[in-house]
Amino acid sequence: MIMFEKLNLPKEGELISFNNGIAQVPNYPIVPFIRGDGTGVDIWPATQKVIDAAILKGYGKDKKINWFKVYAGDEACEVYGTYNYLPKDTIDAIKHFGVAIKGPLTTPVGGGIRSLNVALRQIFDLYSCVRPCRYYSGTPSPHKKPEDLDIIVYRENTEDIYMGIEWEANDPNCVELINFLNNSLIPKSEKLKNKLISESAGIGIKPISKKGSQRHIKKAIEHAKRLTGDKRHVTLVHKGNIMKYTEGAFRDWGYELAINEFRNDCITERESWILENIEKNNQITIENNAKLIEPGFEKLTTSKQKFICEEIKEVILSISETHGSNNWKKMILVDDRIADSIFQQIQTRPQEYSIIATLNLNGDYISDAAAAIVGGLGMAPGANIGDNAAIFEATHGTAPKHAGLNRINPGSLILSGVMMLEYFGWNKAANLITRGISKAIEDKKVTYDLARLMEPKVNALSCSDFADAIISYF
Ligand code: NAP
Repeated sequence: MIMFEKLNLPKEGELISFNNGIAQVPNYPIVPFIRGDGTGVDIWPATQKVIDAAILKGYGKDKKINWFKVYAGDEACEVYGTYNYLPKDTIDAIKHFGVAIKGPLTTPVGGGIRSLNVALRQIFDLYSCVRPCRYYSGTPSPHKKPEDLDIIVYRENTEDIYMGIEWEANDPNCVELINFLNNSLIPKSEKLKNKLISESAGIGIKPISKKGSQRHIKKAIEHAKRLTGDKRHVTLVHKGNIMKYTEGAFRDWGYELAINEFRNDCITERESWILENIEKNNQITIENNAKLIEPGFEKLTTSKQKFICEEIKEVILSISETHGSNNWKKMILVDDRIADSIFQQIQTRPQEYSIIATLNLNGDYISDAAAAIVGGLGMAPGANIGDNAAIFEATHGTAPKHAGLNRINPGSLILSGVMMLEYFGWNKAANLITRGISKAIEDKKVTYDLARLMEPKVNALSCSDFADAIISYF
């Protein structure tokens, strides 16, 4: 029996367990929640009310969440003492019960923790940050057709420049590192030989590993397997044209995974292009039709032509068994895009994308840009998922100036609750909430942040009234 210093364990409820990274959810799970700082006092009660009402409506007494209050952030310091932003009780509770949901947390100004959110991700190895961005009809948006965007950003959570391995300019360790690179490592490389890092530079390290990339991309592909039609599509987003051994490697490892581990489920963009051309009767033969390969190809040498045609033959032979009889049309398309182009593409051709699997920094930018298209951060949910735990969270901060005023938009945390219900497989309840939010927004029953953008202007609902409006559409 697990014991806590200051927590009151619910009297009833069951444990969520994990099997090969998949959560096994009983009908009456215990779920720890962190209310959150600042506007957490407003949005958490609203969220809990909506989730409970949806489960009751969807499943009657057959399912129920037994909420377990745990502490982090300022609230934890009040209960556990100064600088105790993330008490052992909270860590033990999430470790034991596996799935938690949290409101926003103040970034501590002392106590040795850089960010509570980052700490939670690291402690539980929550390596994929998942951020869906879809449009709810009626939400004010700067775009003409925001409804065309319906994507899920998978942002790698544990590697990249975000690991925070960096040295400040002129710090003696930084100077030592630069000297070592300039005088020893760089001259050894034929490619880097003439490059020199300025002595006054700051340095950050960007580690990207095969293991870290593939376990993350695997989660994205597994998600795509649960989707239908054109949405069975994973785009690897990277800046591999410039950062070849980090971002470029991420792309290569992604394709390798898709081909080696998901051969029966995935088709790469190149393979799909070849099959499409065959279907259109553009017979690709070994000897001719080289122009089909790519524009400008005809200028290449004969030996190159042969090589590429042989490659096509190889591709066809390698997939004929798994992808034949039109099977390929139902498969998950895995392609890749350069990071800067995806910012254009989600605006100009949003309907062509579904799951964006990317590295940490790219994912940070892309998810915020996508959230802006569909109505801003107030409506953007998030989840951090690993193999043994998952934490669902609002993506915005504590918005202290609105705290306790019952006016802030609880949409982000409520939608994080929807993600959690989907993760449980409790789709009936998740769909009720999604529909409730859509209807409330369509009927212009919204909080101040959306109300002020609507034309003509509408009167804003309070945070709790917005929650009640959502429930009224169940
Ligand atoms: P913020 O709390 O996200 O607030 C910035 C502005 O965003 C707010 O003033 C508000 O704009 C809008 N906003 C935030 N939440 C909203 C919601 N639920 N509905 C509608 N609009 C919302 O960012 P911050 O002021 O930079 O950060 C405050 C604290 O939060 C800091 O300690 C920061 O470190 C922390 N933080 C925590 C997390 C997290 O826990 N995940 C994330 C980011 C920041 P208007 O006033 O214009 O309406």
